[in-house]
Order: sequence, then C-alpha cells, then structure tokens
Amino acid sequence: MCGIFGIYGHEHAAEISHLGLYSLQHRGQESSGIVAVDRQKGARALKGMGLVSEGFGAPDLSGLGGDIAIGHTRYSTAGSSTIENAQPVLARFRDGHIGLAHNGNLINATELRHELEDAGSIFTSTMDSEVLVHRLARSSATRPEDRLADALRGVEGAYCLVVLVGDTLLAARDPRGWRPLVMGKLGDATLFASESCALDLLGATLIREVERGEIIAVDRDGIRSSFPLDAHESRKCVFEYVYFSRPDSTVFGGSVDRARRELGRRLARDFPAPGADFVFSVPDSSNSAALGFAEESGIPLELALIRNHYVGRTFLQPTQAGRDAKVKVKYNAVKEVLRGKSVVMVDDSIVRGTTTRGLVSMVRNAGAREVHLRVGSSPITGPCYYGIDTPTREELIGANMTIPEISAELGADSLGYLTLEGMLESVPGGPGGFCHACFSGDYPTPPPADPEKLRFGCGC
Ligand code: 5GP
Ligand code: SF4
Ligand code: MG
Repeated sequence: MCGIFGIYGHEHAAEISHLGLYSLQHRGQESSGIVAVDRQKGARALKGMGLVSEGFGAPDLSGLGGDIAIGHTRYSTAGSSTIENAQPVLARFRDGHIGLAHNGNLINATELRHELEDAGSIFTSTMDSEVLVHRLARSSATRPEDRLADALRGVEGAYCLVVLVGDTLLAARDPRGWRPLVMGKLGDATLFASESCALDLLGATLIREVERGEIIAVDRDGIRSSFPLDAHESRKCVFEYVYFSRPDSTVFGGSVDRARRELGRRLARDFPAPGADFVFSVPDSSNSAALGFAEESGIPLELALIRNHYVGRTFLQPTQAGRDAKVKVKYNAVKEVLRGKSVVMVDDSIVRGTTTRGLVSMVRNAGAREVHLRVGSSPITGPCYYGIDTPTREELIGANMTIPEISAELGADSLGYLTLEGMLESVPGGPGGFCHACFSGDYPTPPPADPEKLRFGCGC
C-alpha cells in the first residue's frame, strides 16, 4: 500500500508535495520521494528511506524547482525495501522524461515484465510499477493521456497513478477503483492525493474523486478527462474503510470516521456485551469503531491501552521469540483503569492474531476480570492481491480456525466479528460495489500467476 500525491501549477510544487506526504505517511513508511518538473531545467527526483521526516528536509527540497510535482510514500513487503524501489520512478526516454507514482498492485506484472524483457527492456527495480514506465515510453501516441491509456490497456489489477509526461500531470484510477484518489484545488493549482486529509493540511479544497477508469490530464491547455479503458464493476477496497485510510479523510465519496463508527455500532447491535464495565480501543486504528460501539451500547468508553507513537505501523513478526516484547514496545495497559473490570476490547481487524493475543494477555495481566473481544470487520480468510500486504493463507488466523477456536487461541472470554453482510452494510455506499475478497474469497480477478513474486515485487 502506498500514498500518492500530485500538484500542477504552484510555484512551490515540491514543498507542497512534501507537506502533503506527511498526511499520507500512514499509507507507507518504508520510503518516500518527490519528482518535480522545472520547465527550463527538466525533472529532478529526491528520495529517501524511512519516514518523510527522515528521508529529506527543506534544504534538499531547494534543489527541486518548478511548478509541477508528484510524491509517494511507500509501504511494502520485507525483502524489497531498497532505495531502488522507492518511488516516484523517474526515467528519461526519447521524448523527454516520465515520472510515475503508483498505489496498488498489478496482477499481471510478471507476464508484462517478461514480455518487455524478451523485447530487450532492462529493469532497475523489482517493482511492478516499473512495467508501466516502459509501456509509457513505448507508446507512439502524442497526447500524454493517450500514451497513458496505451500503457494501461492490458494491465490488470489495482492502480491509482500520478504520472508526469513532459509538462503534463496525469492522474488515473483503474476501472474497478480498488484504491482511493481525490482531486483538489489550491488557488489556481490542481492537486491529487490518495486521501482528502492531505488536502486539508494544505488548506486545499476537495473537488471530487477521480472516477474509476478515468484519466485526467492537466497542462497548459487546461484539465481534460477521459475514460479510455474497458469498463468493469466497482470493486472499492472495503479495507480502506476498516483500517487503512485515516478517519479524517473522505475516500470513495464517504467519511472514514462515519464508516468506522457505523462498523462499531453494528458490532454493538450484533454482538453486544451486556454487563461490561467499559469499552476501549486498540489505538489508533480502532478508535472510531470503539466510539461507535460505546455510543450504540451505552457502555462508557475508556482509554485502557496507550500506544507508543514513535513505533511505526508495522506488522509484528510472528516467528520471533521476542514478539511479546514487540507488542509491549507498541502498547501498554493502564492498570488503574483495568483492575477488576469486565471489558470490551474493540479492534478493527485480526490478521495473524499475534498482536491481539499479546494484547489480551496484557490486559488480563493488568487486572481485567473478563475480556470480550469485538472486531470491526469479518474474519480475514485470504491474501490480498490488490495492494495490501496481508500474509499468506497459512498465516491468517481467520483462515485456519473457527471463531470459537480463535477466541480460545487469543485467550478472550468471548469474541464477536462482524459478518460479511454486517460489514458491507455499514460502510458508505455499501453493500454493493466493494472488493471483499480477503474476507469472502470472492476475488474480482483470477489470482496472479505468481502470488509470492507479487508480494516480493510489490510496487506498493
Ligand atoms: P494481529 O493480531 O493480526 O497480529 O494484528 C491485528 C492488528 O493489525 C490490528 O490492530 C490491525 O489494526 C492491524 N492491521 C490490520 N491490517 C494491517 C495491515 O495491513 N498492516 C498493518 N501494519 N497492520 C494491520
Ligand atoms: Fe481490500 Fe481485501 Fe480486496 Fe485487498 S482483497 S483490495 S484488502 S478488500
Ligand atoms: Mg490496529
């Protein structure tokens, strides 16, 4: 998963992108980068590993002049965390430069890459996104948006893109619309961002979503929209509402806060916990859902777990002996709150179950009498091929155990997961039009030929 950002027509394009990336940090902490276009001097890239604040600072940005820029925050799997795989990609070809930042995962990247390699292409990264750069360069179309349409025809999978071709900024969303992308205005400048929270930070106005299958071109001639790709049914990722996006964002035309509160409310109706003393969240991703549970049930909300904010949004390694220590690095229980109480612990999702097991035991050790676990999504039973780095089926607790077994395994007194219907009916615009494959097994595309390679080579 990643965050992308684009701006056209602002004299401080690189600085604005840098600020915007801070608001997209939760979508990727592995590396970040900016490519800016100076109409006289050409395109320049700046990339760094780690957080936006660690990658580069104001002095580095002074080398990035121009009024057009794109930016990226990257989240990927272990093994591919190198500066070569940091985005945006910047490449030069016969007609100038191409810059590209991608959020999503291409399903047929391996096949497309082999085709290109057979024709002599050389790759400098293991990212699926690099395939798009080669395809852009090979197109003979003259208008940048037609070049991008050529590049995308035959590409399967999830993508939100911001692309620079010469002095044109392009934004695109795949025809199923797995990932969010919004368009905004800041004075005369046009902006694109994965989530609207990036626009808020800049004082920009949200104009609309980039639509599924849409390519938007912005340049001297104005803003042009086209829908050149084959249409497909909507498959917005429901997990964006459950976990990934920030609660202060509007994605897919709906408020993430409202979505999560409703998930919590539905949980309280479908899986009540009568007699509990209080509800608390596993911060931060389940704060809004816990609030919804408390509002609906009338059970008070407490702050029983404190999260260390200096630890990244990283999965905890299940195989390491030190995993309990790792849970403790990230969270601590408030004994004075928990001692002797019957509590409802709300989490947004359970993936491997390692964090959750550690937390239930931490809450008990802090003196809780009963721990009722409530989960604001349904059990995750399969991997995601569309840009979220869920592990293989073998590692997913929801794929291998029944709900009572999971409850016992995690050490809870009771466990309630939302049903698939409950989850889909709670999100804005639901229940139709969503991808829920990792919950339901109903994958919108055939699985990729080489899922492991896709994980390893994940562009995003
Ligand atoms: P588990 O108990 O499965 O080890 O961890 C569950 C926690 O992982 C939940 O609190 C949830 O917020 C978080 N989580 C869910 N999906 C993701 C993801 O894609 N990436 C990361 N880093 N954490 C996730
Ligand atoms: Fe989202 Fe799950 Fe679909 Fe992946 S498989 S796009 S995480 S709903
Ligand atoms: Mg969480």
